[in-house]
Amino acid sequence: MTTAVLGGGISGLSAGYYLLRRFGNPLTIYEASPRVGGWIRSEWHKDRGFLFESGPRTIRPKGIPGANTLELVEELKLPIKPIPRTHVAARNRMLYAKGQICMLPNSPKGLFGTVPPFSKPLYRPLIHDLTTGGTLAKNEDESIYSFAERRFGKEIADYAISPMICGICAGDAREISVRFLMETLFEQEQKYGGVLKGVLYSRFKDKVDESKVGLFAQGEPKLYTQARQEKWAMYGLADGLEQLPRTLRKYLGEHNVNVQLSSKCQNLSFNSDGARMSIRDADVPVSHVVSSLPAYQLAQLVKTQHPSLSGQLLNIPYVDVVVINMQYDGNQLLKHNGFGLLVPPVEQLPVLGVIFDSCCFDMAGNTVITVMMGGRWFDKWFGHQPSQKELRDVAQRYVHQILNIKEEPKFSRVHTLHKCIPQYTVGHKRRVESIRDYIRSYKLPLSLCGAAFDGVGINDVILSARRQVELLPLPGH
Ligand SMILES: Cc1cc2nc3c(=O)[nH]c(=O)nc-3n(C[C@H](O)[C@H](O)[C@H](O)COP(=O)(O)OP(=O)(O)OC[C@H]3O[C@@H](n4cnc5c(N)ncnc54)[C@H](O)[C@@H]3O)c2cc1C
Repeated sequence: MTTAVLGGGISGLSAGYYLLRRFGNPLTIYEASPRVGGWIRSEWHKDRGFLFESGPRTIRPKGIPGANTLELVEELKLPIKPIPRTHVAARNRMLYAKGQICMLPNSPKGLFGTVPPFSKPLYRPLIHDLTTGGTLAKNEDESIYSFAERRFGKEIADYAISPMICGICAGDAREISVRFLMETLFEQEQKYGGVLKGVLYSRFKDKVDESKVGLFAQGEPKLYTQARQEKWAMYGLADGLEQLPRTLRKYLGEHNVNVQLSSKCQNLSFNSDGARMSIRDADVPVSHVVSSLPAYQLAQLVKTQHPSLSGQLLNIPYVDVVVINMQYDGNQLLKHNGFGLLVPPVEQLPVLGVIFDSCCFDMAGNTVITVMMGGRWFDKWFGHQPSQKELRDVAQRYVHQILNIKEEPKFSRVHTLHKCIPQYTVGHKRRVESIRDYIRSYKLPLSLCGAAFDGVGINDVILSARRQVELLPLPGH
């Protein structure tokens, strides 16, 4: 079988890795840009000892998706920088709300006091959940905002859930599906009539034994065991997360996988022998295609032959995010220590959040922060094509207002990331099922992985690649 992977982001490279492991060669990965990694991009200032990440910076070592990534990281022998649960960056999370920085409670004790921005102790919303029945009509889906409001009240929806959604996908919790983040809680609520009731019942009834999921034939990955024993909350990589795609590309090259850069696929069609791709004006026939492309990019490629599939792919919306990395001399500028802060959308500010990079990792005495802006509200705040200067000025104004840092950064970098995060709006799961049903019913030799379909985090997209590859039949079967 000749297989092609479209996209050299982390999902496409991972698909290459799992295809190689399952089927061997020949295998080619086609990437449109002159580099691999997609949204993962690290800028390491070795002489000054600090790192800018314009995309992801940490990975969670949790559950099967976390264990799966650690297996890959172990195979690639990457130098990990763990952040244990006791570290200040794991313990301290903040909001900027009602004109002040609010430290969120990080222990059960914190549930009994009244901490701003909340107007009552946090155990009260839990009582609300316990004493409020489930919905009469069973819902297939709803927004995560409406679910949180129904179960815990408006304050939790506004000040806990909405900023969390901004932090994960830069989206509006009123549009994002509850299944994006709380699928199990939602299903337990539908089954048992409440979130807490569901959590308690399911502890006894629905226990999943991770060792039985069958992903790890050789037993749990060693690094995952280490992460559990040492209680890691998250981890980064010594030279930044871009080390992961770069090393993976090197590994694939050493195993004779052809990774072709600056090779944008312009069209994709299918026939009885397989698929044909137009790449750099050449017609490339293959027997199977694994696409890791953003949904709107794949939609372009298939629209001539499969307009209906193209239309369904276009129904997955994306948002633009501005990421501004800033470096200051000295490490006394931040008055609060922690991972960073999020700004709830009810505050109506252009800033989604600020990450305190130099609290998470050693930055050789520099203060490094990253301001994230826009997301679902990009157009409202910035209109069409704002200049880098405008964006930098807005970020600096809010760094002053929120963190009281008056001075200009010594060094900064502005990235406008167009259509960088897919939005799993209400109905997303059904939409993805219907896209995959279409591919199955027309027997298209096409598999889909990547951030558009099975989760937006690094762990999700690597696992998505693995699962799609493992669904392909082995030769002779
Ligand atoms: C600002 C930001 C912060 C994030 N933070 C975190 C975090 O802290 N932790 C975490 O786990 N996740 C985080 N994520 C999510 C994570 O970065 C993504 O899930 C992941 O990088 C997506 O990888 P991918 O391979 O699916 O897609 P992409 O990175 O989008 O890769 C797709 C690739 O396809 C290529 N391509 C497009 N069209 C074509 C074509 N026609 N032909 C050939 N190639 C094409 C593109 O050039 C690109 O390289 C963050 C994302 C962003 C944007």
